[in-house]
Amino acid sequence: MNGWNGRILWVDLTDKRSYTESLPLDTYSTFVGGKGLGAYLLYRELKPETDPLGSNNILLFLSGPLQGLPGVMIGRWTLVTKSPLTGLFLDSHCGGPLGREIKNTGHDALAIRGKSETPTTLLLEDDKVSFVDAEYLWGKGTQEATRLLHDSSPKNSAVYVIGPAGENLVPMATGCCELAHQTGRGGAGAVLGSKNLKGVVARGTKKMSVANPTTFNSLRVIISKRWNDKTDYGFKDYGTAVLVEVANERGQFPTRNWQNTFFEGYESLTPSETEKWMTGNHLSCPHCIIRCTHSYKTEDPSNPGTEVESTPEYETYGLCGGNLGINDAQSVFKLNYLADDLGLDTISTGSVIGFTMDAFENGILNEDEIGFPIRFGDVESALKLMRKIAFRKGIGDLLASGVRSAAERIGRGSEKLAVHVKGLETAAWDPRGKRGLGLSYATADVGSSHLRGWPQTTDKPDASALDVIESMVTERDTKILTDSLIVCHFTWHFPLSREEKVQLLNSATGVQYDDNLVSLFGQRIETLIRLFNINEGITRNDDSLPPRFWETETIGPSKGMRSFIDQNDFERSLDLYYELRGWDKRGVPTRETIRKLGLDSLVS
Ligand code: SF4
Repeated sequence: MNGWNGRILWVDLTDKRSYTESLPLDTYSTFVGGKGLGAYLLYRELKPETDPLGSNNILLFLSGPLQGLPGVMIGRWTLVTKSPLTGLFLDSHCGGPLGREIKNTGHDALAIRGKSETPTTLLLEDDKVSFVDAEYLWGKGTQEATRLLHDSSPKNSAVYVIGPAGENLVPMATGCCELAHQTGRGGAGAVLGSKNLKGVVARGTKKMSVANPTTFNSLRVIISKRWNDKTDYGFKDYGTAVLVEVANERGQFPTRNWQNTFFEGYESLTPSETEKWMTGNHLSCPHCIIRCTHSYKTEDPSNPGTEVESTPEYETYGLCGGNLGINDAQSVFKLNYLADDLGLDTISTGSVIGFTMDAFENGILNEDEIGFPIRFGDVESALKLMRKIAFRKGIGDLLASGVRSAAERIGRGSEKLAVHVKGLETAAWDPRGKRGLGLSYATADVGSSHLRGWPQTTDKPDASALDVIESMVTERDTKILTDSLIVCHFTWHFPLSREEKVQLLNSATGVQYDDNLVSLFGQRIETLIRLFNINEGITRNDDSLPPRFWETETIGPSKGMRSFIDQNDFERSLDLYYELRGWDKRGVPTRETIRKLGLDSLVS
């Protein structure tokens, strides 16, 4: 094979053994890698209703056909598991060299099952697998644990660890790769914690081969030139931080637990204000020519007087900035650093803190229940609550499972303040500022992620989403290919076209995909994940939007907007989406669709 190793490394933590599984070329060309291959393995291996935090859940650390090759924008990898936050399929995409190093050990993926009796770190060195005692790391934050693991690991190893939140089984827990990259959404960090697995370290020396080096290399040159030719482009200098201004101008910025879509004073969170704290360090993924991960000086909120580097992304400015009514960038840096070190998702954690502030100000939760007053704009209380969530102390235990669970347990009208889809807190783009985005959130496989296909329009939702659905489906299919290859999402800045992504796949592996096959591939993977989620109990009723997105915005650029014209418009849009996917009116894939997509032998 070219591009693939043809082998998966399986590790059982219960009896500390490992073995390899060979997969045929046909499986690789059908499921590609990353998200696609992860969906195949998760569907094949997990029985419905498997406890996400039980020893039978599996963790899949996946590369794609491009990792290990001399390309650009391929320094990322994918983690697939069953989410403890949603109880559904989860794919989380992370920067850093772990995917490349696993690939270079001679395996396309590392698959972990079982549970270690005591804290362990997994060390992969080519074909050698070691179970290393991690008692001394347990309880340590991701930053210190990463440095300690590097001290004791082979040179040039890739390190991925969880923090205290994952150890304490917080369903919003992340894992951290090389200090600055997170498996952010859906709680994969808690799945590691449930297995007593502190982290994974990998170092491989195998070299991968390319099917068509001439085409592959020429694409690398074209991609690099396009980026180098861009001038006067804010993303180049500041990364995703430039989106704070974009989102406010479009009326899409989460503000005070999504009460509004525009944050007055947002300018203090933009690069013109924040660049004075930039360190000049990038901490970016390997093979990257964009280098979006910028570092900012701040003080470690757990060790006053100690200067640290914080690497916030746009989503953190949104959920730990505007969504908490905080317009001070240094406060966002501190919240971001603390969340990364504790191993918490800044989107879900910012969302649940905003929910608590909203509930407190509305008299739904009182000071006795929370332990202290917490109002919008109060960073000290937000930091305190973040620690309580990570250690499950006091109200932090109730909030640790996210806004859906918290609202179900609190009641008293708090359900209206809980902004999520299928239990996953919404990313920092309010759909009241973009037509059709609400449908993308409602139908996204993992819940309201912003990375599951955007409609190609900048229109606001004062007309039916029906007109933009087809572009959303096309974008979703392209994104599924992007996440399976695995190429960085930000290649749209070049832009790297769908056709060029197909050329990357074909030249690396020798398969012969075309545009039509990409659509079929996207439909195949989404349908397989839909079937997984149906087995976990989801129905059409779960493809919905939270009450906040049905409220009419009263200020800013999205004044007068709701996510859809009305409920009828939403239901018609959902009908059309299902039809385009070959699913029936309940959102269930038909037998004919399953057969057409080549899934019938997998789906009994
Ligand atoms: S653009 Fe950012 S996320 Fe993408 S590969 Fe580079 S550093 Fe990683």
